[in-house]
Amino acid sequence: MPTEHAMAASVVDLLRTLIRNACVNDGTDSSGHEIRSAETLAAYLAGVGLAIECYTAAPGRVSLVTRIEGRDPHAPTLLLLGHTDVVPADDRGWRHDPFAADLEDDMVWGRGAIDMLNLTATMAVACRRLAADGFRPTGTLIFAAVADEEAIGTHGVAYLLDRHADSIRADYVITEAGGVPIPSRQGPLLPLAVGEKGASWRRLVVRGTAGHGALPFGADNALVTAAAVVQRVAAYRSPARILDVWRRTVEALDLHPAITAALTDPERVLDASTWLDSPGLARVVHACTHTTLSPNVVRGGMNVNVIPDRVVIDVDVRMLPGVTGADVDAMLADALGELADRVEISAPDFGQGSVSPMETPLYDALARTAGALVPGSRLVPQLSPGATDARHFRWRGVPAYGFGLHSPRIPYTEYPLMFHGDNERIDVESLRLSCLLWERLARDFLA
Ligand SMILES: [Zn+2]
Repeated sequence: MPTEHAMAASVVDLLRTLIRNACVNDGTDSSGHEIRSAETLAAYLAGVGLAIECYTAAPGRVSLVTRIEGRDPHAPTLLLLGHTDVVPADDRGWRHDPFAADLEDDMVWGRGAIDMLNLTATMAVACRRLAADGFRPTGTLIFAAVADEEAIGTHGVAYLLDRHADSIRADYVITEAGGVPIPSRQGPLLPLAVGEKGASWRRLVVRGTAGHGALPFGADNALVTAAAVVQRVAAYRSPARILDVWRRTVEALDLHPAITAALTDPERVLDASTWLDSPGLARVVHACTHTTLSPNVVRGGMNVNVIPDRVVIDVDVRMLPGVTGADVDAMLADALGELADRVEISAPDFGQGSVSPMETPLYDALARTAGALVPGSRLVPQLSPGATDARHFRWRGVPAYGFGLHSPRIPYTEYPLMFHGDNERIDVESLRLSCLLWERLARDFLA
């Protein structure tokens, strides 16, 4: 179909520009520069009668919002929520320059190709096509492309909700991620993220006594103590918890009953994850059933001839929904044992995990539209291990899901490894499917 060809070509062009804009968010206020992609999107969306609003939270930190107003103010409002920032990329591990947006063999390579410039681009193209087509629904469609998702949203969604709440007030939200088909005997299963874990990062400061590096015997070296602390945190296993959403995920997978039983048994779930024979899947099983602690950054030491008296360890802690910061403190105390006395812990808490109801009209509409585009498919509710902007809406009681459509070209076992990883890429067919999904969903759900 020629119009679908043109549609896919538009998505590819837009995605490649967004990747090249390199809105890299390293967590500092002065990074991101999302204004580049806000300008790209504003130019792309122009000319079809869409009113474009840009909101500047801080210099360069710009989010764009547009809407197709519904005829009935009481009908539901659906927000398609994309982000324009990406995490940094170290090109040494990549087969293509992460910011060149190479297109090779119908595959677009680059940082953000999966997280989530792909979906942001498809949402923009769908929105423009609907507007150009004169789409006048009953309910309202909002498209937002926000800054700062990869930090904690201070300059993106959190800013909009605090300062311009009307701009993105919605009854339902769809953002990243999901929809990578998992083969099953009864057709492809499409994971839909209904909830996610909370982030509760911890900074551990280990103290020692400074001294001459030539006199190490019996020294109180903070780095040596920190090494033991890192080992204990890494080796710690929090107790497994089987949430309702996890049980529903596993049951939908239609596995051998013995495997289903083991994967939903807190005593056996970790062992069972290794039966799946995929390191990527074992990580997901572990993350969906445990609060995780990962020591990821260490800073300490000044000179090779000075015994360090202070080392800082940053630990990425991801809490299951229902787990609190106090629970995390208890886990860390448990992990550290008698070393706890040697460590000062500070905790910027980014909020608890969140789960949306699975019985909603939007869930049903997504099942219908996805089912039509991927014949024989079923949705599988899923808990997302990583954080997304969906949490800001779930905390306010607004159902928010993570979804998109993908061809089988990138296997579901590889997909989770690409988030923030090397060689991020997306195939053109996946882009086409997601774009059609948003168009058809808007026509179905907002009627
Ligand atoms: Zn993302």
